[in-house]
Amino acid sequence: MTFKDLGLSPALVKAVEEKGYTKPSPIQEKAIPHILEGKDILASAQTGTGKTAGFTLPVLQHLAETKHPKYRPLRALVLTPTRELAAQVYDNVREYSKYVNIKSAVVFGGVNAKPQIATLRSGVDILVATPGRLLDLHSQKAVSFNRIDVLILDEADRMLDMGFARDLNKLISFMPAKRQNLMFSATFSADIKKLASGILNNPVSVEAEPQNSTAKKVTHKVYQVDKGKKTEFTIKLIKDGNWSQVLIFTRTKHGANKLTEKLIKAGISAAAIHGNKSQGARTKALRNFKENTIKALVATDIAARGLDIPLLPHVINFELPNVPEDYVHRIGRTGRAGAAGEAISLVCSEETEYQSEIEKLLKEKLNSTVVEGFEPTDTAAPKRAATQSKGSFGKKKRPTNGGASQGDRPKKKPHFKGNKPAGATSGRGRTGAPKKKRF
Ligand code: AMP
Repeated sequence: MTFKDLGLSPALVKAVEEKGYTKPSPIQEKAIPHILEGKDILASAQTGTGKTAGFTLPVLQHLAETKHPKYRPLRALVLTPTRELAAQVYDNVREYSKYVNIKSAVVFGGVNAKPQIATLRSGVDILVATPGRLLDLHSQKAVSFNRIDVLILDEADRMLDMGFARDLNKLISFMPAKRQNLMFSATFSADIKKLASGILNNPVSVEAEPQNSTAKKVTHKVYQVDKGKKTEFTIKLIKDGNWSQVLIFTRTKHGANKLTEKLIKAGISAAAIHGNKSQGARTKALRNFKENTIKALVATDIAARGLDIPLLPHVINFELPNVPEDYVHRIGRTGRAGAAGEAISLVCSEETEYQSEIEKLLKEKLNSTVVEGFEPTDTAAPKRAATQSKGSFGKKKRPTNGGASQGDRPKKKPHFKGNKPAGATSGRGRTGAPKKKRF
């Protein structure tokens, strides 16, 4: 199967070939033909599967085919939970649209809105955005959703986790009922299913991996270590293994800062990435990490969500997440694109129940090891794990949420009201040439 076989135009095929992609990934193979047909999609895909090209390529093709010679209203919108993911998706959109006459832009919070407003006013075909900033821009009349033809929700589960349900609901209420909807999510809680049934219209389900499964080539290792010895153990792992690139997850922003300081003191170049860091600091940390200027990136769950760091060899869970699905998200950053990776978890006595919940989700026992000199002596009782799959969304179930300020707006009582278009039929309701007005 080639990209051409999937029905993509020569201009798009040329762009992906230049990126070095030789054949479509499984999610691309499954999703692209349906998207080209104008169908709604519910896709189970975590980052690392090639999902971004999976939705971007067919949407670009649709935009290019239906472009009006004079007008350039906003016709496709990609919503992402975090600024980093928005920036990353936008980079991909730009690369894939190199040989088609389609204009793209990205907007997110934490940076000056003025240039974003100017860009939007100049006319954009496809916009990548975080929900909070986009709502602000919409209320300032900097953007109109009247001609939205395709809506893409990327990492929809994380958008709900971050309390964006209400913002999503509001944004969608401004869009035409007849449109194509593509929803991507790594996990499928009851809340996600409810969101999907409210938005999607007769969706085709596609799966990159079996639901809630972890990337195939990841080896999981658990080291039983006392809480107070984890920093020393992490330093030992990095130094003994001579690792040059490791992503480390902590549960709290404070924990991320503390560990980063200690790594630096131990001579390991490191930076922290979390919601209390400025956008500039986060972008710089990520760039330095990708360019190998720093060895360790210490991140909270939400901050690290969706980061595209190719071929990451090691991920350390300095603390296990108390929400088992987060483990799947975290280790989605290793063993990417067919390369092998190692997911290491440092587990103290308080976290044994978190481990059991993760094992239940993965349907796999994680091998536990004790290393000489680090034999556990802690006796603290295990903490209870949180489950995401029960209850209604909006209820906070992650007591130590690192990086919630990634979202561009404070979250209150989110409530998703379905907005399934009344009487809508399948298909995207392509509206042909836009009428006069451009905003
Ligand atoms: P994503 O899951 O969209 O974040 O993509 C993960 C990584 O896979 C990115 O670095 C993409 O550039 C890369 N990628 C996407 N599609 C392909 C493909 N067909 N072949 C090789 N790499 C790909």
